[in-house]
Amino acid sequence: MSNQDDVTRVQQFVAELNQGNLESIRRYIAADFFAYSPAADEPNATEVYYDLTSDLKAAFPDLSVEVQDLRAEGDLLKGQLSLSGTQDGALWEVPPSGTPVTWTVDVSLRPINGRFAIKLENLSVPEILGVLRQIDLVPPPDQMDKPPKYPVVIPEILLKVVFTGQVADKPCNHLSDIKVTEPAVDVCEDCVAQGDIWPALRMCLICGYVGCCDTAKHKHMKQHYEQTGHPLFRSIRMDEGWIWCYEDNAFFSKRTLEKYR
Ligand SMILES: [Zn+2]
Ligand SMILES: [Zn+2]
Ligand SMILES: [Zn+2]
Repeated sequence: MSNQDDVTRVQQFVAELNQGNLESIRRYIAADFFAYSPAADEPNATEVYYDLTSDLKAAFPDLSVEVQDLRAEGDLLKGQLSLSGTQDGALWEVPPSGTPVTWTVDVSLRPINGRFAIKLENLSVPEILGVLRQIDLVPPPDQMDKPPKYPVVIPEILLKVVFTGQVADKPCNHLSDIKVTEPAVDVCEDCVAQGDIWPALRMCLICGYVGCCDTAKHKHMKQHYEQTGHPLFRSIRMDEGWIWCYEDNAFFSKRTLEKYR
């Protein structure tokens, strides 16, 4: 297909999405992620984007997608993706706020046999947090050390992209050091001793220490890493099981944790 055919095809996809046809995602979004192919036991890009878009469409029934300035650059298409809508439905446990939200981001598309792999470019974490704060998905900056208002569980793929800037796993040599995967307590005992509260709990996967997260007042898990050099922790909040490596700034999904159980 020529570049012009690809541009036309993307515009057709956007038009179908705006008609509310989510199934079109399965015809236009490639199974591969932009920079790598998913492992056999990993959800593929088509399904990941289908699930995300379904969640957004349920929360923003008037969801509108625009791709501006779409052009061919080498093997890729580049442009600007804008999502806008009003949050009239619940999103990941956050009740409807009635708030209108618009988010614009640079996007690259790689054509693969008539479908497209997508990459969001130049992601700005403060900007993303700003958008998420508009609908109470993330607490205001001065309340990040308090228990959250809603029991939000943000999809792992979003956390990973925001924290690491990429969808693929980053290399980490520490996973083979995992010794403990299930916590023995469900409090930060160091905070309890000081009479403090925390937003979320983490567990050291090397020794099982449980401490509060990095937005908590005392950041006890981070202190634990600094004192012991144990770099890997998991989230033990609600059903979360994602893993973070302090040393490699690497994020792994709960699927990775399951392998070490
Ligand atoms: Zn590591
Ligand atoms: Zn603590
Ligand atoms: Zn430890």
